[in-house]
Amino acid sequence: MPDNLAMLEQNDPAVFAALKGEEQRQRSGIELIPSENYTFPEVLATLGSVFTNKYSEGYPGRRYYGGQEFTDEVETLARERAKAVFRCEHANVQPLSGSAMNQAVYLGLLKPGDTIMAMDLSHGGHLTHGAPVSHMGKLFNFVRYVTDPRDGSIDYDQVRRDALANKPKLVLCGYTSYPRDIDYAAFKAIADEVGALTMTDASHFGGLVAGGAMNNPFDFGFDVVTTTTHKSLRGPRGGMVLCSKALASKVDKSVFPGLQGGPHMNAVAAIAVTLLKAQSEEFKGYAKQVLLNAKTLAKSLMDQQATLITGGTDNHMMVVETTSSFGLDGRQAEEVLDKVNITTNKQIIPDDPNPPLRPSGIRIGTPAATARGMAESDMQQLGEWIVTCLQNSEDEGLLHDTRESVKSFCGRFPVPGI
Ligand SMILES: *Cc1c(COP(=O)(O)O)cnc(C)c1O
Repeated sequence: MPDNLAMLEQNDPAVFAALKGEEQRQRSGIELIPSENYTFPEVLATLGSVFTNKYSEGYPGRRYYGGQEFTDEVETLARERAKAVFRCEHANVQPLSGSAMNQAVYLGLLKPGDTIMAMDLSHGGHLTHGAPVSHMGKLFNFVRYVTDPRDGSIDYDQVRRDALANKPKLVLCGYTSYPRDIDYAAFKAIADEVGALTMTDASHFGGLVAGGAMNNPFDFGFDVVTTTTHKSLRGPRGGMVLCSKALASKVDKSVFPGLQGGPHMNAVAAIAVTLLKAQSEEFKGYAKQVLLNAKTLAKSLMDQQATLITGGTDNHMMVVETTSSFGLDGRQAEEVLDKVNITTNKQIIPDDPNPPLRPSGIRIGTPAATARGMAESDMQQLGEWIVTCLQNSEDEGLLHDTRESVKSFCGRFPVPGI
């Protein structure tokens, strides 16, 4: 086999240098953005494989191009493994991203103008949940629910009132910045009352459901679950639509030919690889540890007087209100932590009085750090670094020293695949 990386180094030193720079950045910093992760070495190998050369429009056994002997094999493996891992009747593994998978569901199961209930962006929902700036927000009539100001959890009474008043065709739950679990039984009861379909966008926590550490919406009778494959699931960048047999043909037609042309077969093959990993005892342990680490980090931050939205976490992430805790807006806090090689992201909080590029908080998550093998005592250390740096954000000497400590700490935790 030719040494592909050596060829890149020789023939395109500019891109090779950027690639090496990113490798070094990932090695020498602590990744706390909750939507990011380190994928498996086998996934990296599969993504860079000859499957990237192949056009495979259609589905296994029904393709529009020849030469599908091996692509059919890997896509069938990916679908069967997805069904086993998530205990569902049908899986479409072709969506090119999380956004595409959600669009495919809306467009395949509903008509433009239909009403969808989903979580408001500032309260934890995703852009694709009908944010006014998204195309889906313009095409469908989204009714947005919010969290209860008393405890920060979803206000299920309001969800029910709005459902009865607006008669949605689809009730969607799932989030991108909400630190609690979902009451699926409550959502299902509300949807049944108004005759709506139920959907969970599990993009953030799909890996935690797969690993058995969080509830599976299918156990509560949900119709559709979507999930990205690159967040807590630790696979390639992509999306999946999981659903009942009854919806299978509508979903498949919506993904292809409705929304997409040829699937990225290197990603489909890598999803198959990921879903075999997801069935291992090791992955179950990983999913548990992600939650344990989040609880430990949240406690460490709160013990040091940081304010967390909802007062803690039940999942893999937390939202820190930095304005009240440290007198820094989210952008400033993100920048201070960047200086010490701790990567987080600025985050709007419920009904944020500040604009999205200067919001009131940051979002922190544990999937990536846990993938490197960090455990509870490491979270304690992380919590101390985070609070000390945010409290002393002008102290360049302290930031410099912390950065050196973070770098040497990172040396103890190899990045998978590098
Ligand atoms: C990340 C995410 C998406 C979108 O995924 P992309 O691959 O970035 O398009 C959709 N929904 C939720 C809840 C997400 O967190």
